[in-house]
Amino acid sequence: MAYTHLFSDIDLGPFSINNRLIMGSMHTGLEESPKHFSRLAAFFRQRAEGGAGLIITGGVSPSEAGRAMPGGAALLTQEDAQTHEVIPQAVHEVGGRICLQLLHTGRYGFHPNVISATDAQAPISPFKPKALSDEEIEAEIQSFANAARLAEAAGYDGVEIMGSEGYFLNQFTSPALNDRNDQWGGSADNRQRIALRVTEAVKAAVSEKFLIIYRISLLDLVPEGTPWVEVEQLAHRLIAAGVHVLNSGIGWHESRVPTIASMVPGAAFRAATARLRDAVDVPVAVTNRINMPDQADALIADGTADLVTMARPWLADAAWGRKAEAGASDDINTCIGCNQACLDHVFEGKPVSCLVNPYALHEDKFPRHRANQTQYVAVIGGGVGGLSAAVELAERGHHVALYEQQSRLGGQFLLAARVPGKEDYAHTLRYFEHRLAELDVRVHLNTRAEVDDLVQAGVDQVVLASGVTARVPELPGIDHAMVVRYDQLLRGDVAPGQRIAVMGAGGIGFDVSEFLLHVDAPVQETEAFLSHWGIDATGEAPGGLTRPKGQHADREITLCQRSTTKPGKKLGKTTGWIHRLQLRNGGVQHLTGISYSHVDDQGLWYDDANGERHCLSVDQVVLCTGQESELSLADELAQAGLPVTRIGGADKAAELDAKRAIRQGVELAVALSH
Ligand code: NAP
Ligand code: SF4
Repeated sequence: MAYTHLFSDIDLGPFSINNRLIMGSMHTGLEESPKHFSRLAAFFRQRAEGGAGLIITGGVSPSEAGRAMPGGAALLTQEDAQTHEVIPQAVHEVGGRICLQLLHTGRYGFHPNVISATDAQAPISPFKPKALSDEEIEAEIQSFANAARLAEAAGYDGVEIMGSEGYFLNQFTSPALNDRNDQWGGSADNRQRIALRVTEAVKAAVSEKFLIIYRISLLDLVPEGTPWVEVEQLAHRLIAAGVHVLNSGIGWHESRVPTIASMVPGAAFRAATARLRDAVDVPVAVTNRINMPDQADALIADGTADLVTMARPWLADAAWGRKAEAGASDDINTCIGCNQACLDHVFEGKPVSCLVNPYALHEDKFPRHRANQTQYVAVIGGGVGGLSAAVELAERGHHVALYEQQSRLGGQFLLAARVPGKEDYAHTLRYFEHRLAELDVRVHLNTRAEVDDLVQAGVDQVVLASGVTARVPELPGIDHAMVVRYDQLLRGDVAPGQRIAVMGAGGIGFDVSEFLLHVDAPVQETEAFLSHWGIDATGEAPGGLTRPKGQHADREITLCQRSTTKPGKKLGKTTGWIHRLQLRNGGVQHLTGISYSHVDDQGLWYDDANGERHCLSVDQVVLCTGQESELSLADELAQAGLPVTRIGGADKAAELDAKRAIRQGVELAVALSH
């Protein structure tokens, strides 16, 4: 299929690009130190080669106070600019274009010297900001001009001024925060003054051929946020001040509404972008949860936007654009919105990568050359670990046979894709299956690998990726008919009950609770999602927030755990709050610090923290009580003397983790391919 709307030229003002694809700004953790800039250059170069029409770097502060953290990226001096030169150079060598994002974090900075329009502390920061004086505001404005001039000197094609997501400029422009009563606060004219002064100062500091993008907050998604009339007014003024392109900003970091996680439907906020596009005459970019070419092309075709900004999908697949242009959608390794190796890593201070693409930002660690000596490898288990190993081995020239006992590939991912809000996980399986077919991997479904057959076939290596089995705790009555395993429920082998005890509040206990909440009334359609969370994407409500409709399931669901810690404590940093909120809004009850006694016709019996016995009257108990490695073949393989490597859940069930499983598949293929 040809995506003719996506792959058409567009004039951005100072220059044209030959497709509508912007690789949006993402923090990679490499921006902080020039010693990483050659890696960053290689990363961007690969994406430019992969079809990104225009790249925007991760955020770089124009001033000391605007840094995201102590030592956070900043562009302050000529020397700083020189260290950046390798980045635009690498992109230009392959015909790409790249802009630097000017990101002043304001009160979101994670250091004691944060500044803002007011001294109100952000709910997501431990630091109280200093409210700036007139003189200090002037200095910050000049810092933007200085950084833009330095960006042009370094060779960048333009800058994106970050004016959304609740960062510094947004802290001034939005009435949600700015209660100043001087020329920088109060009326919309005053609140917008700093954004316009910054744009004018940047414009004056750079040449005519330098692109100026402004990321404007279309929906603040915080109480008392910017009304739409002001969004349009600001947009017109920014254009008059010299902005060439407007990029959509959706939600502040402190918003209690998901904006990019997997449960957000594709391009859910597009109505706001479409409304802006109707109102202005410069190119406008649409953002948030766009990950496949048909969807991106349709957003251009139906007039929602002129450009499509995607960030994480370029981590998941460096050649997203090239594959889309060739009409090879099935070849795209799709971002599933999990945040587990990108944003979660940023907030945990770990190197950024991608769950579905461990190569991202680690390209040097995993050489892709073909094996000198080809081996015959049997991969046992068709979950994502086994799929990754099979594909990576075959790509390096090994002969690979993949054995899966079930009738379908996918393992735990197949189950995850049935959880409302995780439907995109199916893309990963589509991608792997497509690659297996292209690489001629022999796939044996409904087949238990027999060790004798493997020996007879002359297998050189075995990869044991047989995954996990659900743990069944030893408890009187555990074999009662009302007790089911989570996989039976998610697979549809058993119907959900009406009054349900979910045993175990780990990742799967949460997934199962969400499944039970939404299985009859999905909130994955955009309209349902928006009303569920109280979002008005048309911009009628100030800041885009209305009253959330929420959703109470007809079922009574109780999520139980033995430990006394906060339920869902181990969930991802950037998504755990959403899952907890979903369950709370859905009326799911929690029982913590209990010890299970037994199950009988009345339900689940447990002792509370004081040792008092209670019965949770339920008609179904769903076991989400962790995992055990599935190793039934391990001993036989060892006895047969076959070299075996365990990966994924078969390696460590306690830390069952798709990110590790997929990465181990790559590591193994590299190790076997000297
Ligand atoms: P898990 O996170 O380890 O949770 C299982 C829970 O079961 C434990 O926290 C434990 O809680 C309870 N448990 C363990 N043994 C038990 C026993 N003998 N009797 C009763 N309760 C017992 O494992 P999971 O939920 O199976 O998830 C597997 C992996 O997938 C995890 O690494 C998880 O992080 C990941 N995952 C993540 C997500 C997500 O981030 N959204 C979603 C799905 C899966 P108590 O001792 O407190 O009762
Ligand atoms: Fe997308 Fe998950 Fe990869 Fe992040 S880690 S880029 S959210 S697939």
